[in-house]
Amino acid sequence: MEIVRAFKTELDLNNQQRTAGMRHAGTSRFAYNWGLERKITAYRSGERMPSAIDLHRELNQLKQGEFCWMYEVSKCAPQEALRDLDRAFQHFFRRVKEKKAGKSIKVGFPRFKSLMKGVGRFRLTGTLRIYDGQIQLPRLGVLRLKEKNYLPVTDVHILNATVSERAGRWFVSVQVEMEIPDPEPVEKPVAGVDLGINRLAQVSDGTYFENPRALIKAQAKLKRLQRVVSRRQKGSANHQKAVRQLAKAHARVANIRKNALHQVTTWLARTKSAIVLEDLNVSGMMKNHHLAQSIADVGLHQFRRQLQYKGQWYGCEIFLADRFYPSSKQCSQCGTVKGSLGLGQRTYHCENCGLVIDRDWNAAKNLEQLLTVS
Ligand SMILES: [Zn+2]
Repeated sequence: MEIVRAFKTELDLNNQQRTAGMRHAGTSRFAYNWGLERKITAYRSGERMPSAIDLHRELNQLKQGEFCWMYEVSKCAPQEALRDLDRAFQHFFRRVKEKKAGKSIKVGFPRFKSLMKGVGRFRLTGTLRIYDGQIQLPRLGVLRLKEKNYLPVTDVHILNATVSERAGRWFVSVQVEMEIPDPEPVEKPVAGVDLGINRLAQVSDGTYFENPRALIKAQAKLKRLQRVVSRRQKGSANHQKAVRQLAKAHARVANIRKNALHQVTTWLARTKSAIVLEDLNVSGMMKNHHLAQSIADVGLHQFRRQLQYKGQWYGCEIFLADRFYPSSKQCSQCGTVKGSLGLGQRTYHCENCGLVIDRDWNAAKNLEQLLTVS
């Protein structure tokens, strides 16, 4: 079975490479913003919006004059940025349509990219090669990797590479096409999974995954640094220093969470044949301040995305429960549905049959029953 997969790993850059990276990211951002400006102008004057191809052609003209500095970077960087811009508009128009059809979603117009959000990223195509501990990219040459043996060296077709910076560290994400063995037709059980308020994940078979201690610690540090930043005077050297530390702490929390989610999703996709998840209306829940933290923490979107692609690799189907399905309020033993269940209530107690069970486990069992009962 052929799959497309991304591998992300940290780069070990020298000063010269770092500068080249910043230049590429800057050009990418510039092209994106320039294209966005062009699209907006066209739209306002009632003209047809120029496509990525139109814009690229126009940019190539400008490169011969005003934008001659663009010759310093790979031509892929602005080209791919313009493709991203097209995608952002496609996404925007799709959301507008969905909203018109009655879905309650927010529709955000594509925004200008700001340097305030960090150096940014750029994507390259063309001659890309992976060696042991190194990667070769157009214009940037051979770059060292911090981790050896992570990127696949043989039997892969590299589609593109995205270089990004976060809190002073540089990463490369390589998208590859590769052949993997078809999933073996083995008998595996089905399961319901509840992304807990109390725990990272609760599985209907009783297995559960706690939030890693490192995550809780890192989050506490993040909160402390947020307070420090708000106390410092804006524009001062101390403020800037605190902002840098905060960005680092953010990156660390995101990393720990992502790794924890990977462990859970790999295990689930390997050992289950089908999984039911709750289809939470996340944007609706974000309004509820209490839940916002835990939902953001669990990284629901990331979890679902990981499960969906790993499910394909290992032969596990993913189902989403209707978002009005009362997985938390229903008793998994007798089916009675409670009128209300406070968020603080960690245990589910059924007045009808007397079942006393952990709240998340009860929800996971209900989700599993969507597959087994019907
Ligand atoms: Zn009951």
